[in-house]
Amino acid sequence: MPPIKTEGFVLKRIDFRETSVILTLFTKELGKIKGILKGVRKENSKISPLTFSEGAYIHSILYKRKSGLNLLSSPLLIDFPNYEKKISFKIYFWILKLIDLFISENQTDENIFSLLDKTMKILKVTNKPWLIFLGFKIKLIGFLGYGIRTDICCKCNKYKKISFFSPKMGGVICKECGKEEINCIKITNKVNSIIKFIKKTDLKNIENLNIKKEEGEKINFLGNLTIYYHTNLDFIWWKNEKNIFRGDY
Ligand SMILES: [Zn+2]
Repeated sequence: MPPIKTEGFVLKRIDFRETSVILTLFTKELGKIKGILKGVRKENSKISPLTFSEGAYIHSILYKRKSGLNLLSSPLLIDFPNYEKKISFKIYFWILKLIDLFISENQTDENIFSLLDKTMKILKVTNKPWLIFLGFKIKLIGFLGYGIRTDICCKCNKYKKISFFSPKMGGVICKECGKEEINCIKITNKVNSIIKFIKKTDLKNIENLNIKKEEGEKINFLGNLTIYYHTNLDFIWWKNEKNIFRGDY
């Protein structure tokens, strides 16, 4: 197959043999792809290590193979976010990890690619990185097709007063339906309207939302439960996310 020029985020890097690395890239056109980059860990290598580090945005040439590992060559560093806040770095790496978890190999998704690109840039300028993380999470759930429905009750499909949240249904449910539904969680009107706001608001404007970190943490938890019900990952991947919503920074 002819070589393909591509650009993407390094989601994951694994050292391979003496001098090579295996990179997982997330690109706009080819989606999530894996490839081996040979010889870059040699002492006299002209390629700077940042180029093949997790978090880098790089240009490279891909040789696709039908079996075995794809080959990557001529990597060129385009961007590596230099965040002032330590927490922004953590969030950025966390987001890359989520994308690696929920996108399968060779799956393309331009919406999620743009979301990642935007999030990486907004994290450079925001004063509320935790809110940007929450915005990313809610929008990611939407692009993955798991919800979150906030307009009408997920069970009776009617406009009624909302009292519960069902992670299994990926949305809100009314008081009456909530009585029959196990595994649903009581929510307030405020929580419902915060999720609504995040869904319809551009990521860069989400920091205008005036909520407490605890409220953000709760909504993030509802989002995680929703993903949990819709994927077959059977471990708690979000354990460390609490650090995003706690502590002063
Ligand atoms: Zn209902």
